[in-house]
Amino acid sequence: MDFSLDEEHKIYREQFRKIFEKEVLPYVDEAEEKGEFPVHLFKRFGELGLFGITYPQEYGGAGLDMLAFVIYAEELGRVNSGIAGPLIVQSSIGTEAILHLGTEEQKDRFLKPAMRGEKIFAFASTEPSAGSDLKNIRTIARKKGDKYVVNGIKTLITNGPVADVITLVAQTDFSKGYKGIGLFLVEKGTPGFKIGRVIKKLGNNPSPTAELIFEDCEIPVENRLGPEEGGFYSVMHLLNDGRIVVAARALGVAIAAYEAAYQYAQDRIAFGKKIYDFGEIRSKIVDMAVNIQAARMLIYRAAWKKDRGMDYAKAASMAKLFATEAVEKITRDAVQVFGGFGYSNEFDVERYFRDARLMTIIEGTSEIQRLIIGKRLVKHEFDLE
Ligand SMILES: Cc1cc2nc3c(=O)[nH]c(=O)nc-3n(C[C@H](O)[C@H](O)[C@H](O)COP(=O)(O)OP(=O)(O)OC[C@H]3O[C@@H](n4cnc5c(N)ncnc54)[C@H](O)[C@@H]3O)c2cc1C
Repeated sequence: MDFSLDEEHKIYREQFRKIFEKEVLPYVDEAEEKGEFPVHLFKRFGELGLFGITYPQEYGGAGLDMLAFVIYAEELGRVNSGIAGPLIVQSSIGTEAILHLGTEEQKDRFLKPAMRGEKIFAFASTEPSAGSDLKNIRTIARKKGDKYVVNGIKTLITNGPVADVITLVAQTDFSKGYKGIGLFLVEKGTPGFKIGRVIKKLGNNPSPTAELIFEDCEIPVENRLGPEEGGFYSVMHLLNDGRIVVAARALGVAIAAYEAAYQYAQDRIAFGKKIYDFGEIRSKIVDMAVNIQAARMLIYRAAWKKDRGMDYAKAASMAKLFATEAVEKITRDAVQVFGGFGYSNEFDVERYFRDARLMTIIEGTSEIQRLIIGKRLVKHEFDLE
């Protein structure tokens, strides 16, 4: 058993860190202040070959493994979570169904421009009345000749306000229940498709989030991804990957919070000594470091299982559950270490705290992760592999 990163992945980390600090960091303050995503980053990431980290190079991806993608998400989250989210969607859940289910023609039309950053993608599953409960979505795509007519509302969609293409999850036939769920690509400008209200949030402010409205929106049959049915299982598969990556992005936020808190504890003097020298403060810093390591191991383990073609669904849920809950505690403690200034917006820790709060909710809430893990445990899948 070897817990160290190999040379190749160490180099990826160094390179990602250097690139993100050069290309992303300068835009963070303005993006946070205005609550706007620096849209040029899509094009820039495309130019730098920073999309589709795990996708084959023939489609414009980087052809790396899941561990590399996890390191990428961690480093991007460390720089800014609200900017990381939309860029990660473009490399994962927004486009991944095209890679797995798309025809060569669909890959040419949609996946390659996505990898070049020329088209922005979103993934739309959540509805006002069904989020966790994917089986009960009400958006319908009814086949009519060589078209599908889509009706319904999606909400809380990352990249919704800026997306050129939506990977849409919709029912095709209510009588089939969840087995009738399919996946479709809807292009901006299609009559009957419009952006609804833009949703303001507690954190991750640069990440654009909106409601999407489909009213008799006709899309060609060629925009269906894979078979008409069976989309439910495809979404479940996409979410397994998504969970590992969200956990890694959250870990990046925790690392930023830890670094800030550690430094502040060294610099801040109270009662004539560094606050790091107070046991209460040092314990917080120690707990942060321990939880970061534990979260990282679960995340890397889930990626490792995927990279070896092993079943990684439970490992992904465990990593997501543990890491995102740990990150909430880490960022809360970081605010505490900063005292009153931690609550002011003069330091970044208050932002880490707000940004971290999202992570136990997206790509399956903590409650849903416990449900998934619990079901697997019933099947006697408690193992160390
Ligand atoms: C900033 C942001 C970005 C997002 N981006 C996207 C996106 O790009 N695309 C997309 O499709 N969605 C997106 N979402 C939606 C997100 O995936 C959902 O909010 C999430 O899946 C939870 O669904 P819900 O909000 O409908 O909550 P609900 O499903 O209504 O859950 C409410 C509460 O009940 C609990 N609960 C529900 N079912 C169970 C159960 N069976 N057992 C125990 N507890 C349960 C939940 O854990 C939660 O605590 C985003 C959300 C946010 C906040």
